[in-house]
Amino acid sequence: MRVSQFFISTLKEAPAEAELISHKLMLRAGLIKRLGSGLYTWMPIGLKVLRKIESIVREEMNRSGAIELLMPAIQPAELWQESGRWDVFGPQMLKIKDRHDHDFCFGPTHEEIITDIARREISSYRQLPLNFYQIQTKFRDEIRPRFGVMRAREFLMKDAYSFHANPTSLDDTYQLMHETYNRIFTRLGLNFRSVSADPGAIGGSGSHEFHVLAESGEDIIVFCPDSDYAANIELATSRLPDATPDDPVGELKKISTPNQKTCTEVADFLDIPIHKTVKTLAVSANDTLYLILLRGDHQLNELKVRKIPFLTGYEMADETTILNETGTIPGYIGPVGLKTTVIADTAVMDMNNFICGANEEGFHFINVNFGRDLEQPRHVFDIRNVAAGELSPDGKGILEICRGIEVGHIFKLRTKYSEMMKAQYLNEHGQTQNLEMGCYGIGISRIVAAAIEQNNDDQGIIFPESMAPFQLAIIPIGMHKSEQVRFEAEKLYTQFLCSSIDVLLDNRNERPGVMFADMELIGIPHRIVVSERSLKQACVEYKGRTDQEAQTVALDEINTFIK
Ligand code: ATP
Ligand code: MG
Ligand code: MG
Ligand code: MG
Repeated sequence: MRVSQFFISTLKEAPAEAELISHKLMLRAGLIKRLGSGLYTWMPIGLKVLRKIESIVREEMNRSGAIELLMPAIQPAELWQESGRWDVFGPQMLKIKDRHDHDFCFGPTHEEIITDIARREISSYRQLPLNFYQIQTKFRDEIRPRFGVMRAREFLMKDAYSFHANPTSLDDTYQLMHETYNRIFTRLGLNFRSVSADPGAIGGSGSHEFHVLAESGEDIIVFCPDSDYAANIELATSRLPDATPDDPVGELKKISTPNQKTCTEVADFLDIPIHKTVKTLAVSANDTLYLILLRGDHQLNELKVRKIPFLTGYEMADETTILNETGTIPGYIGPVGLKTTVIADTAVMDMNNFICGANEEGFHFINVNFGRDLEQPRHVFDIRNVAAGELSPDGKGILEICRGIEVGHIFKLRTKYSEMMKAQYLNEHGQTQNLEMGCYGIGISRIVAAAIEQNNDDQGIIFPESMAPFQLAIIPIGMHKSEQVRFEAEKLYTQFLCSSIDVLLDNRNERPGVMFADMELIGIPHRIVVSERSLKQACVEYKGRTDQEAQTVALDEINTFIK
């Protein structure tokens, strides 16, 4: 590409609203332009980066046997009503009506649509397994859109959905996707880590996130440097969502199923991860699942649950509490699964403030909701002080904490959607079965920002080679005055094009300083300067984006040098 035929529009200063370095640099380098809150235009140079990421993702997905399709962004309400998510997804979903007054949404995700396709297309176990994916625009009406494309409202996602005859096949594909994601983020040149995660509103039974490690990340990760243990702290600290008006009022119920089991047995039984810093223990009732955190390896039948008037309404009991009813309580519990997650283990609360509730074996609150049945919290736990420095759950070292940017998320959905939407197939014995499902997301547009958070300096962006808008910039000095410079620069440009190098020839009639600064700001990994002075020695000047000094390379060697 010649700059004269392209569009480059850089800024000296970033607009004041940009807080993060990636946001500032993306605006300054002219990669994106803001249209409105959480809405960005990908300018030509930014789009090149986005497309390079997209094509690596596409290559690796194809390689793993996934099949590309493209679903509509606008989705009919009926499918979401079938899955039960129309009323519970919340304000992140942008709901719209057409001229006939029919309800639609702009898809925040596509489980309902693909499940509808699966139930129409899949009838026999012989067709399984299948993994469909798309690269497509999503809209989520984020409460606080910020950091540019990092947390936008409209953004580009790769989302894949797999269908299986049994959980083992789902496990295999889940594992394969885990490996595929490792390959993708490695090829993209990112410093990343995969962690156990909370499935959140998407639901399901098991899940991992992929995080680009960066100080500015919104997520906190606990990990053990001496082993593979790594988890999103969200898994241990998220809070109950507010009740919706339709939720039944909380009540006390006797729950029998997992009674008499140890934490580990219960967690295994329910196929949920155990956050072992504090032991988790699960009891379930109706479609609400509760996790209880315990220190040590208590039996569930030892546990007594009380109503507490603040936090999310559940007490976490430890041995002291059970034995001596006046002690302190090191945490609390909350529903997981469809509704929410688990909690922390730190602050000391005053037992005198508690209203006694289910003080009987095997009794638990169900449908008790924060903000409705219970008071607003007075304490917010901060697990950060607890988890760092503790022994890793696998016992192999001391936990550390770092920040990450979530760029990918994989889930085992199991039969959550197929049950609700009757997506079934016939097994080899002719019996009707629910399809097992997995789903796998990558935030394509967020990756651009995440990569820049990790790779920048005072001059601007330092793009990893894999996603740089151009691999190489040729900067001729005085091209408009010197025929020789123009000739050699054009010749090099053609040579590099022929060797399939994505090269940008800066043929603007600009001062060298301006051209150098722009190419550095944009983050092009390699730069060649063609000048009369160096041509006299049949040489050009080469500088890698992070090199301290330029070096002289012979004209007839530069091609092999760059490769
Ligand atoms: P977050 O925790 O950051 O809100 P999420 O857990 O809600 O993300 P998922 O539903 O797991 O997101 O979606 C898959 C991927 O889509 C995420 O891992 C992330 O990379 C990307 N993504 C989600 N929300 C946004 C957004 N508002 N802007 C840009 N990318 C996003
Ligand atoms: Mg989100
Ligand atoms: Mg998340
Ligand atoms: Mg996620």
